[in-house]
Amino acid sequence: MDNKDLQSLTEEISIKDFHKPFVHQAFFNKRLKTTGGRYDLQTHNIEINEKHFQMYGISEVEGIIKHELCHYHLHIEGKGYKHRDQDFRELLKEVKAPRFCRSVKAKSSVQLVHEYRCSACQQTYMRRRRMNTDKYVCGKCRGKLIKIDS
Ligand SMILES: [Zn+2]
Ligand SMILES: [Zn+2]
Repeated sequence: MDNKDLQSLTEEISIKDFHKPFVHQAFFNKRLKTTGGRYDLQTHNIEINEKHFQMYGISEVEGIIKHELCHYHLHIEGKGYKHRDQDFRELLKEVKAPRFCRSVKAKSSVQLVHEYRCSACQQTYMRRRRMNTDKYVCGKCRGKLIKIDS
């Protein structure tokens, strides 16, 4: 998927879901760090984070485009285009767009692990789920485990 594909996909979604044309530019921006997309108030262009496409695929990008198109159309029509605006929230719901431009970081934090350390022998343990430190002790020395907050 290149900028040309992204442009035509954005135009398609705009017609299909918003029944209005998208007449500006949509392109991948490699410099976007964590946000999935960005709508530029000055140029009216939509920028999409290429990492999101590489990591999560086309359906994720479609969601981001919808979200940015909500900003786009409302802004151009002089309506409430900001996240907290009523117009924006209603349009998001109407076109079933994600509430936020999901960040790369936010997604990876879902896989965050809980880390524990034995207070006696310093052995560390990584667990996907939270552990009850009253119930579980160190497997090596049976010492008390302490949760390490990163
Ligand atoms: Zn947004
Ligand atoms: Zn221990």
